[in-house]
Amino acid sequence: MVRSSVLGFPRMGVLRDLKKATEAYWGDKISQEDLLAEGKRLRLAHWKIQKDAGVDLIPSNDFSYYDQVLDHIQLFNAIPERYSSQKLSPIDEYFAMGRGHQKGGVDVPSLEMVKWFDSNYHYTKPTLQDNQTFSLSKDPKPVREFLEAKEAGIVTRPVILGPVSFLALGKADRGASVDPITLLDKLVPSYVELLKALKAAGAEEVQIDEPVLVFDLRAAVKNAFKPAYEAIGSLGAAGPQITIATYFGDIVHNLDVLPAFANLHALHIDLVRHPEQLDAVIKQLGPKQVLSAGVVDGRNVWKNNFQNSIELLQRAVQALGQDRVVVATSSSLLHVPHTLASEKKLPQEVYQWFSFAVEKCNEVAVLAKALTAGPAAVKPELDANAAAMKSRAESQRTNDPKVKERQSKVTAEMHNRKTGFDNRYAQQKKHLSLPNFPTTTIGSFPQTQEIRIQRNKFTKGEITEAQYEEFIRSEIDKCVQIQDELGLDVYVHGEPERNDMVQYFGERLEGYVFTTHAWVQSYGSRCVRPPIIVGDISRPAPMTVKESKYAASVSKKPMKGMLTGPVTCLRWSFPRVDVHQSVQAQQLALALRDEVVDLEKNGIYVIQVDEPALREGLPLRSGKERDAYLKWAVDSFKLSTAGVEDSTQIHSHFCYSEFQDFFHAIAALDADVLSIENSKSDAKLLQVFIDEAYPRHIGPGVYDIHSPRVPAEAEFKQRISEMLQYLRPEQLWINPDCGLKTRTWDQVKPALINMVNAAKSFREQYKA
Ligand code: GLN
Ligand code: ZN
Repeated sequence: MVRSSVLGFPRMGVLRDLKKATEAYWGDKISQEDLLAEGKRLRLAHWKIQKDAGVDLIPSNDFSYYDQVLDHIQLFNAIPERYSSQKLSPIDEYFAMGRGHQKGGVDVPSLEMVKWFDSNYHYTKPTLQDNQTFSLSKDPKPVREFLEAKEAGIVTRPVILGPVSFLALGKADRGASVDPITLLDKLVPSYVELLKALKAAGAEEVQIDEPVLVFDLRAAVKNAFKPAYEAIGSLGAAGPQITIATYFGDIVHNLDVLPAFANLHALHIDLVRHPEQLDAVIKQLGPKQVLSAGVVDGRNVWKNNFQNSIELLQRAVQALGQDRVVVATSSSLLHVPHTLASEKKLPQEVYQWFSFAVEKCNEVAVLAKALTAGPAAVKPELDANAAAMKSRAESQRTNDPKVKERQSKVTAEMHNRKTGFDNRYAQQKKHLSLPNFPTTTIGSFPQTQEIRIQRNKFTKGEITEAQYEEFIRSEIDKCVQIQDELGLDVYVHGEPERNDMVQYFGERLEGYVFTTHAWVQSYGSRCVRPPIIVGDISRPAPMTVKESKYAASVSKKPMKGMLTGPVTCLRWSFPRVDVHQSVQAQQLALALRDEVVDLEKNGIYVIQVDEPALREGLPLRSGKERDAYLKWAVDSFKLSTAGVEDSTQIHSHFCYSEFQDFFHAIAALDADVLSIENSKSDAKLLQVFIDEAYPRHIGPGVYDIHSPRVPAEAEFKQRISEMLQYLRPEQLWINPDCGLKTRTWDQVKPALINMVNAAKSFREQYKA
């Protein structure tokens, strides 16, 4: 019999219940007991959904109050002393590591949080000491939650993050120099103890995630699998049967690691991303080993194509036999929204194309049944699925001949500005009369309560469009007036009309649909609701011209137009899977190109195209795939921006500073001015601009917008002096790290006054 399995289920609940509960707890609105009870209610509800769907292997310990990696930091007592010494309750100590704690005389910042592989989920980095020790927590969460499910009559397969990935994804704490992987010997005994405890509690199977197997691994990490899994494998009947899970990539380049798993039960691979790895992996399996075939996409919202999946799975069954194949989600379902059933506003035609977490549970169950009992056993499901696939392929929504026609006419020249930077800048300087050390901001100004209230009223129909637009104009007036007072050099309109930097554009483009409840966890209690690209993209009308033109009309300095770039629009949406991402990026680029040209026609001569997501799209391994990505990502940015005159200045913005390995792509964008996040990094990172003789202008952020702190003028000056060790004075712009929407005016105004004064003093100093 072919079994079905889910690698992990979203935790938030149908209505982001967990977000509401944790935030209420943090705000002292509910008690710790209330929070724990809500967690329990959600876990039980989610197990029941999976059981009712007929899933054979249901995960437990996939639930988390903040982040699953953080759970393991606590599980193995890898808690830095600055938290453990505070004598907080376990859950408060846990949240202190996740999000910092500033209460009752305790003041500790959070541990570092970074992107989980190439997703928009963020995990807490294990932060380790030179003399690090580990021990299993007294009341291990995986055992507790396994027993909780068992009590409710549901036998689950606990999920834990494997020891090699746990260490390889970690780092040495500030002041320490330990290479985390060298701590393996100390860590593995706690894993062995945990597995024994799980077995004793009745767990017959356990899923151990080792997702780092999809990376290019350095030898020390690669070699760690053998000792770790020999120790675990030697547990034999004293331990549960182990499935090693990998996802978000292929493992073909790491097949030589598989012998380390020889004594283990099963191996899971992601066949959505890399179906071609199937045969290579099958060949490497031991004579009794089981293959968990991840065919139902854990990263996107499209309905599974049953016919394709069955064909692929049959190949596995032919090679291994039914009992050695499990049908699974490609990864945890953490990255998809809870249920399609909540979406009441999607067009009926489109609705049937999707499948969220709840529906994906059904999909693995149906596929397992089709393989076990033959397709006839699930004929109605297969027929409905085939009809949905056909509807999508033939829909007018997906295919717009005008868009295809336009794409076919894209030429190489369309990607390039008319002349080189030196000539462009000479024209821009004259046209815009910019001083040296020009000051600007990244786009958004504080999104006040008032803005949210008015937007809500407009959405609910309580005020008219004319009233709302009047309100937006008054907000723009206010931003312009404040920038006059501050003495900035290049203005922004403040983005009061934008709810979100991708959704705002998606709502104005053809080819997108929007959900009402399809939230996905981004970090902690934060969720995002990505729009979905369903068809060919085009721009029926200008999207930002009205606001920018108005802003320019009331301001005496150059007004910067503000757009989200094609790659960021793509990455922060659920993309189509029926055409390549490069095609979608080019469609977005053409739409944005028209917008850029329209802005210029309407008197906007500085235009910023934000690409904060460019880097996260970078394929996980170096090589051909990465080069190909960089080519189309850079091309789409260039296509969107190159339609303007030389005297129009193109800016771009990135929210990170680590682009040593990425520098050539950034340089290839040919943006006249770049702004990057830098205020918290070592100015040394700017060395790459010297090494590569970067010719254009750069504004490394001088103001950390994530913090309410107001830096003093002297601090800004100090920072600018440091930057001048690496950058030429005539290429340096002075700006914050990122947009200011999450700050208050009380914080922003004094900080920008100090920033502008610092810039002015350098302007004086360098006059000669
Ligand atoms: N222009 C956007 C803003 O200022 C940029 C946001 C971002 O980079 N994430 O809000
Ligand atoms: Zn940013």
